Amino acid sequence: MEKIDVVIVGGGLSGLACAYKLADRGLQVLVLERGDFSGSKNVTGGRLYLEPIKPLIGDMFLDAPFERKIVRERWSLFGEGNSLNIDFTGEKFRKTGHSYSVLRSIFDRWLSEKLMEKGVYVIPKYRVDDLLWEDNRVFGVKSGEEEIPASVVVAADGVLSFIGEKAGLKPKMRPKNYAVGIKEVIELTEEKINDRFNVEKDEGCAHLFIGDVTKGTFGGGFLYTNKETISLGVVVGIKAIMERAATIEAHSLIDAFKERYEIKRLLEGGSVVEYSAHVIPEGGYNNLSRLYANGILVVGDAAGFALNMGVTVRGMEFAIASGIIAAETILDAFEKGDFSANTLSLYEEKLKNSFVLKDMYNCKDMPEFLDNDAFFNFYPKYFPLFVEKVIWFGEGPKEKIGSTLWKELKSSGMLSFKRLKELYNIKNI
Ligand SMILES: Cc1cc2nc3c(=O)[nH]c(=O)nc-3n(C[C@H](O)[C@H](O)[C@H](O)COP(=O)(O)OP(=O)(O)OC[C@H]3O[C@@H](n4cnc5c(N)ncnc54)[C@H](O)[C@@H]3O)c2cc1C
Repeated sequence: MEKIDVVIVGGGLSGLACAYKLADRGLQVLVLERGDFSGSKNVTGGRLYLEPIKPLIGDMFLDAPFERKIVRERWSLFGEGNSLNIDFTGEKFRKTGHSYSVLRSIFDRWLSEKLMEKGVYVIPKYRVDDLLWEDNRVFGVKSGEEEIPASVVVAADGVLSFIGEKAGLKPKMRPKNYAVGIKEVIELTEEKINDRFNVEKDEGCAHLFIGDVTKGTFGGGFLYTNKETISLGVVVGIKAIMERAATIEAHSLIDAFKERYEIKRLLEGGSVVEYSAHVIPEGGYNNLSRLYANGILVVGDAAGFALNMGVTVRGMEFAIASGIIAAETILDAFEKGDFSANTLSLYEEKLKNSFVLKDMYNCKDMPEFLDNDAFFNFYPKYFPLFVEKVIWFGEGPKEKIGSTLWKELKSSGMLSFKRLKELYNIKNI
């Protein structure tokens, strides 16, 4: 096959964003996607934060099929038979459109169609098997017997990045650095969603859960409202599953989650229209892939650009931003006519000056901080219990609230050195 300017492996958000930025510059760009269409194999929670990427995206998301503007945020600590919830909403969020829920099967497909209108070929059902090499540099890709030579290859093939591995850029995979997410999309009417989540038309809610939802192991639950569906899922650390294989089955967690009193009523009358499972990078800054080599760049999940910040999960805006920044680097490389690692190293420099590597670096201690069972069993168990004890009025005289709280704090171990140290360590994250 004739040499192409840029071959992008993977038609998810990182690959499509990269292609979008390259599309108007007269380069020949090919996006190869193994799924039936872009979006068919892509899983997210999912909420996309727009503010960080606004300076980069230009007109990319004009008329984008966002589901709902997130204006209500909820976090829940799930004990075994009780829960404690924080519910936040703010005018600032209602006015600005700070983040939106998305369904990838709709969103990615829409973006790939927009790309095709711009003359970029997005080829579905095309799985890349290997890289082509010439004099120690990547020189294209291979699929079966077919070879596609290219000046630059972009590895946008997601968390397991076979391409990054073939290029020798991927760090050794350790179970501790990955989680698995299981998700259902549940159909409900628009009116029911508005009523049940106390939002107006086109407004939505993002809700995260920890505690009993994963039976106290690393991970949590999520719920996002879409136009006429709800995305509901459970994420569990792969190391935790391996250690507790006898007592925990990832897929049964979502069934138990849906049966919880707090959730069941929200979903009543709904029917499951989609089911998916996907791996999530959890290794953070210290486990990123190497980002470039001669003739190749790595973007999105393939590079490990995802952040579990405890209060929220971010990956999509990193995927989009890294794709665009990779494209900018490629355009510079074409101007120079040089695709060596030396020229492509500009990608890392640009990422360091963007929110992508700044945020990843600022949160570099988060994976270590969250690698602590107390966040998934101790706190979610005791905080709702304290509240329960305070608000329970039984037979006999009611103890002073302060005495109840003090007794519980002492007997639970909340005032132990270990717990206070955890509190102190919050300053690091
Ligand atoms: C359960 C779950 C919840 C999440 N929640 C959120 C959230 O709420 N907010 C958020 O911002 N992020 C969230 N994330 C993370 C976010 O979804 C990812 O960071 C994002 O999808 C990464 O995009 P990507 O384009 O890099 O990778 P992907 O979307 O995985 O795309 C990779 C593409 O490459 C294709 N591919 C792979 N191998 C090949 C091959 N050999 N040949 C051809 N094509 C190939 C795949 O089919 C796929 O389409 C969540 C992730 C999961 C799993």
